[in-house]
Amino acid sequence: MTRAAARSALRCRAIWTACVLAIIAIAPGARAQVAPAAPAWLSGATCYEVFVRSFRDSDGDGIGDLKGLTASLDYIDDGDPKSTKSLGARCLWLMPVAASPSYHGYDVSDYYHVNRAYGTNDDFKALVAAAHARGIKVLVDMMLNHLSVQHPAFQEALRDTTSPYRAWFRWRPTPGPNNRFGDNNWRRSPVRDEYYYGFFSSHMPDLNYEQPYALAEMKKVAAFWLNEMGADGFRLDAVKYLVEDGAQVDDTPGTHAVLREYAAFVRATKPGAFTVGEVYDSTGTLLSYYPDQLDDYFAFEVADSLVAAVRRGDGRGMLAPVLRLQASVPADRWSPFLRNHDQPRARTEFGGDWGKARVASFLLLTLPGVPFVYYGEELGMTGAKPDPRIRTPMPWSRNAPHAGFTTGTPWEPLAADSLEANVEVESGDASSLLALHRRLIHLRASDPALGAGTLLPLTTSQPAVIAFLRRAGTRTVLVVANLGAEPLAGVTLRSDVAVFARGRYAGRILFGPAALDAFAIRASGAMNDVPLPTLAPHAGLVFELTRMR
Ligand code: CA
Repeated sequence: MTRAAARSALRCRAIWTACVLAIIAIAPGARAQVAPAAPAWLSGATCYEVFVRSFRDSDGDGIGDLKGLTASLDYIDDGDPKSTKSLGARCLWLMPVAASPSYHGYDVSDYYHVNRAYGTNDDFKALVAAAHARGIKVLVDMMLNHLSVQHPAFQEALRDTTSPYRAWFRWRPTPGPNNRFGDNNWRRSPVRDEYYYGFFSSHMPDLNYEQPYALAEMKKVAAFWLNEMGADGFRLDAVKYLVEDGAQVDDTPGTHAVLREYAAFVRATKPGAFTVGEVYDSTGTLLSYYPDQLDDYFAFEVADSLVAAVRRGDGRGMLAPVLRLQASVPADRWSPFLRNHDQPRARTEFGGDWGKARVASFLLLTLPGVPFVYYGEELGMTGAKPDPRIRTPMPWSRNAPHAGFTTGTPWEPLAADSLEANVEVESGDASSLLALHRRLIHLRASDPALGAGTLLPLTTSQPAVIAFLRRAGTRTVLVVANLGAEPLAGVTLRSDVAVFARGRYAGRILFGPAALDAFAIRASGAMNDVPLPTLAPHAGLVFELTRMR
């Protein structure tokens, strides 16, 4: 990068989008990593995904609601960084809370009102106030790609071909061509001989971003949730499908352009507002959504790599997508996770194995990025498709009916093991999966190396053992995990490159039950056959490494 470009980059903290263009112009070919200064709360933060319908019911109708969630915020974070009685999650992603005819809410019929089953707009504002009092940010799910077939704009456009809302959607007298996956997404109108476009289903007509009206409306919706409702940002659903180009329905230049404009609008409307997008695809595709579109995206390939490594009990190759992201994107702009609301629950992926669930969560919470935990994963809840079974009610207590989720009849029966994967049961057990989450989420938040440090991969003498350093400034932590079901003795570590100055180093345990013998670093600076303590099955250890005097 030239000096002029570097100076320009410094000024970029203030005027972000303009600077991206400036740097690309000044330093063609330079990898653009320009981002707005990440909000301070993001460093070391863990986010928690909540399905309001299943979290806690306050009024006995069997449906979780905003008042129930508000009353349960201390579980998520009680605002005391020293106490590990709560999870310590600094941000919440609420799955859709706007009015919708479906139980999941991903087809919105009124973007300006909370789903009545969940409460009122005032209940939402009260939730935000209570969350902010604890230092928790609130992100809401936002659907830009499609709305509900019952949305009044679509209903009018369907019935009246002269309606101005016609331009919000795509219409054809005959079905259009199949998409590149071989599917046809053109849906027959129920009122006349024509077709509308709906990528996911006939119940979800896509918005048409080839005309300016839909984006203008979705900006208005964004401003409403940010300013009027007090939300801190959005999780943006299915963003890779926003604009079609013939059979190419995903990742088109038009989609990138809409995201660029939308993200710039969000930043200008509420400085510090945060956006995280769902691009359900490989890391290579994900990278096309930076640098100047949304702030953050879910790292699906990291999730799959982590789950696969734990399943096979072999850590080799697990870090490849992590290292690729780290080399391309700042760590506060990508988000690892284990599973989300569209996938089988993690412990189910592991055949019910608690050890595998533990080591998977350990790895998630020691990697770089901004980790997201889907509600109930911290308990080891189980569930496989159909979808309602991976979104079952939260089990709060041991003895109350329906595990304390509701005093009425739950909208969906609880998981069969809700008295085992259960908040009250696990709160009383220092070795529980919940206890692991509480300790590691707090450790991440308080340790700059673990929270925001660079990852340096290490080579281990056993394929079942994965190890890496996390480093921020002069602080270095060592993370070790045994992915296998057997205890392992005599495992050694080495680094392929220089990682320390010459000297003798000691490890102080930050997480886990073991001790690390002091080790020497010679003139090469590399770690060379550093012996590890015996590793219990599925154990995870974190050490702070310091040079001895
Ligand atoms: Ca309720």
